[in-house]
Amino acid sequence: MAQFKCVACNTRQHGAARPADLVGDLCPGCGASLEPVGGPPGRHQQIADRVDVFFARREPGVAEARLEAERWLDDGGRATAEAGVEA
Ligand SMILES: [Zn+2]
Repeated sequence: MAQFKCVACNTRQHGAARPADLVGDLCPGCGASLEPVGGPPGRHQQIADRVDVFFARREPGVAEARLEAERWLDDGGRATAEAGVEA
């Protein structure tokens, strides 16, 4: 049985009686759009997931760059040159 949920007021609508009327329909309580429950995620959720992935991928690189910058500053900017001489 298809089920729809209002994202604004959390009202659930059962779609068995009039599924065609409920797809893409508005909540009878508050007028917000209904999202299918248990189906594929809605567009809002898809965008939120992509933003999460973007920040999850970006964070390690930012932390690493910050560490390298701190090391470079601690050594007075000579770390890279010294590493080249010792190698
Ligand atoms: Zn509602």
